Amino acid sequence: MELDNFTYGLIKDLLPDNSPIHEAYKGKRTNDGAPGTFKAKITKAYGGDVTIEKAKKFKERENATPHDKRQANWFINFHSKNENLDPSDLENTGKAAPYGSEYSLVEEAVMPYIQELTEYMGQNGLNIEPLPSVEFKYDPENAIQPLGHTAYYNPNDKIIVLYTADRHPKDILRSFAHEMIHHNQNLEGRLGNITTTNVNEDEALQEIEKEAYTEGNMYFRSWENSKKN
Ligand SMILES: [Zn+2]
Repeated sequence: MELDNFTYGLIKDLLPDNSPIHEAYKGKRTNDGAPGTFKAKITKAYGGDVTIEKAKKFKERENATPHDKRQANWFINFHSKNENLDPSDLENTGKAAPYGSEYSLVEEAVMPYIQELTEYMGQNGLNIEPLPSVEFKYDPENAIQPLGHTAYYNPNDKIIVLYTADRHPKDILRSFAHEMIHHNQNLEGRLGNITTTNVNEDEALQEIEKEAYTEGNMYFRSWENSKKN
């Protein structure tokens, strides 16, 4: 089974987040959120690819809609973390070059779906705000380990880390859905009393993981079905 590296040093020090969680993403879903539309809007307005600068400019326009702002904020939120990485760190920590060749191809392919899936989960009853950051790790050495990492959630910083090398995009998205359930558990203060990463040693962890596997997969599956209908 896929046991994600639910990081324990971090969880032990976890301060439960008691801030009120507001209902995520009210209102109806529209095609405005479909993959590619944000990029299309940016290209139309400014030409070229989406950058943080363009996303900021886009959301600050006088006629920016709430949806424009949300899409721009997601982009900025998801990308800021990586852009701030010191390139000298990347050598040591594993190939997560922010806009390196293979890295950015995977990111570009998967990110629009991550945004859509995030929106879907929020609109279908999951408390996920404030939204987590997302980081991609391109790590070919990890990828050849049969029990290598696939994804993890860092509850202190609210970051979902997704390993991308040699994985089908759908598999990455399924990992993302799983980690989003951990994010929800974190926001609800339910990760506080976990003391191990071994599900065979801790019943509380077993329950936390059971929920993440079932809920994460079901959200993923119903989102997928909603797209194919
Ligand atoms: Zn998990």
